[in-house]
Parts: sequence; structure tokens; C-alpha cells
Amino acid sequence: MKSEPPLVDKHSLFPTATDEDWDNWKWQFANRIKTTEQLRQLLSFDVPEVDTPLAITPYYLSLMRDPSDPLDPISLQCVPDQRESVVGGYSDPLHEEEQMPVIDGQKVYGLVHRYPDRVLLITTDICPVLCRHCTRRREWYKGMQPRTPAQMQLMLKYIRKNPQIRDVIISGGDPLTLPLRTLDYLLTELRSIEHVEMIRIGTRYPAVLPQRFFEQDILDVLSKHAPIWLNTHFNHVREVRTPEVKRAVSNIIRSGCVVSNQAVLLKGVNDSVEAMTDLSHALLKNGIRFYYLFQADKVEGTHHFWTDVDKGKEIVKGMRGFTSGLGIPQFVVDAEGLGKIPVNPNYEGEDDGHRILRNYQGKPYYL
Ligand SMILES: *Cc1c(COP(=O)(O)O)cnc(C)c1O
Ligand code: SF4
Repeated sequence: MKSEPPLVDKHSLFPTATDEDWDNWKWQFANRIKTTEQLRQLLSFDVPEVDTPLAITPYYLSLMRDPSDPLDPISLQCVPDQRESVVGGYSDPLHEEEQMPVIDGQKVYGLVHRYPDRVLLITTDICPVLCRHCTRRREWYKGMQPRTPAQMQLMLKYIRKNPQIRDVIISGGDPLTLPLRTLDYLLTELRSIEHVEMIRIGTRYPAVLPQRFFEQDILDVLSKHAPIWLNTHFNHVREVRTPEVKRAVSNIIRSGCVVSNQAVLLKGVNDSVEAMTDLSHALLKNGIRFYYLFQADKVEGTHHFWTDVDKGKEIVKGMRGFTSGLGIPQFVVDAEGLGKIPVNPNYEGEDDGHRILRNYQGKPYYL
């Protein structure tokens, strides 16, 4: 593995923070960078004035290698970019708002029922870090709220009434921003529904605020409802290769979660075989399986991250056979309301009327 120059020194970026502060998730959350003025004091490149919310934990900002480089893969993911004002794309590319069902004449706001046996719950619009590539950027402009108790009740009612739902994905925003007792309540209610066989939590906390898992309270909630399928969102090796992530993920695994990663293919961040393989290896080292690689959705303001669909195919082709299968994600395009469509490199062909398969090196195998 390539050796990298040392990361930015957290003490030089945040000189008043003690080690205790740094390891305290509440300090990290409370001291998030939320204005361009603050960013301009910390970075030495020209941070543009853009008309969108921003939020970055000190920890996440400290993962950048070079505070003078706007193209650093960490900066790209969290620092507002002039290119966000380029016109094009959709506010809700996955048609989520349309796929929220109605019961008793009321829209089950926050619940997306797209596939027969599983539902996605958008439980809150709040996140510790606002990712510039976020699919749900539309939520940033609605005041960033958790769902109300009445909306939560309606989601639970819908799940209770639909016995075909066996898999519930608690997502957001980031569901770990919910008060812990609300999360515990939601998990308790879901566990009491007989047909709900599995529960997933989709969260970016392990990548942007791993200190959250240094505390026992959340680990107790996770283990109380085990096994939880916890899906993380790491996009770059540098987000994974830290002592904080190592400690957080080992705590999460010990609390009975099955941990997988869902990454987004982002131009300039991870759009090469090498970058994706480095990410994969760092995940595996921590015990995280690499589940999905998403084609970047066509979200307004994210156009500079989009790659060609062939790029994703090329990346998984360059991984399959060359490295551990457990670390090779399924590449998918989340097609505007139609669901995830796998896009795979082709290993099959025909030669003189014979069906042939090709191995990872291109060597033919005649069937
Ligand atoms: C991604 C997603 C799921 C889960 O899909 P899997 O392929 O089972 O991981 C369920 N519902 C919605 C709306 C989704 O976007
Ligand atoms: S954590 Fe997820 S929902 Fe939150 S801003 Fe990032 S991509 Fe969007």
C-alpha cells in the first residue's frame, strides 16, 4: 500500500481542543463548522460564497491532507463548491416523495415503499456533516427536522398493517441524530412486529463522527436489538484509516451489528480502481463488508461528481479476481424511482458458436 504524507494535524487546526474534547462526540457535534467565514480561517484555498447550508465536524475536516487543496477528496465531500450552482439534475431524483404511501387519507410522510418486502424510513433530515453529494439535499431547505411523533406513529402503523414488510431500513438524514430514546423506542416497536424480520440502520456516523461509538449508551441500544444490519457510508480510504474508526467499528461489531458499507462513486474522490481497492482493503481490515457502490444520483448541485456508468463497471472489473471477493461491491444505478439496477462487467461471450466465459484476466473458458 502506498504510504501517504501525514494527515493535517488536528492541534494546528483546532488549537484549543483537548484530547478529551476531541474524543467527545458532543464536543465534535457542537463545534461543527457551519459558516464560510469559519472555513476561510481554516483553509487556505478560496472557499466560495454559496447559498447552501454547510456542516463539518472538526474530526472530518482534519482528515484532509492539504488545507490548500480544494480537490482533496475530503474537502470535495464537505466544502461548498462554486460548481454546485450549475443548473441541471433533480431535487428528488429517486422520486421518494411520490413513493410515500397513503393510509387513512394521510400520506405516510418519511416512509418509502418501493420494493415488495422492505421499506425505507426517512426518520430525520439532520446529519452531523452535510455531504456535498447528498441525494437528499432537498431536505436541507426544509428546516432540517426529525419526523414528528405523529409521523413516526403513522410509519409504524403502515408497517404493522402490511405483513409483506419483513425488512425495515432506518435512514435519514442520519438516524443517529435522533434522541437515543426515540431510536430505542422505534427499534422496540419494530421488534414487536412479528413480520419484521430484519432491521437495518443507514448511518454516516462511523465516517464523520466515530466518537459517538466511544460511549456505551448507544452500544447498549444496538445490542439490545441485535442483530442490527448497520450500513455505513465510507467513500475514501482516508475516512477509514484512523484510530477513531478502528475503535468505533470494533465497538459496533461487538454490540452485535453486521456492518456493511455503501459508497457513492464520486469523480475526483474514488473514481479509480486503485482508490476503490484501497477503500475496500481498509474496510475489510476493520471487518466491514463492501455491499454497494452507487452511481452518483442526478441531484441538483452535484453535477461535478457525476461519472459515466462505464466507470463503475471498469472499477469492479478491475477488482474482481484481483482482490478479496468480500470487498467487491455490487455496482448499482438507482434509477429514478425504479429501484437499484445492477450494472456488471460482462464475462460471457461466444466464439465460433461456442459459449465462452472469461476469467478476470480475460482467459477463455469454453463451456
Ligand atoms: C435501497 C433501498 C432499499 C433496500 O434495497 P436493498 O437492495 O435490499 O439493499 C429499500 N427501499 C428503498 C426505497 C431503497 O432505496
Ligand atoms: S450523511 Fe447521508 S443523508 Fe446526510 S448529508 Fe451525507 S449523504 Fe446526505
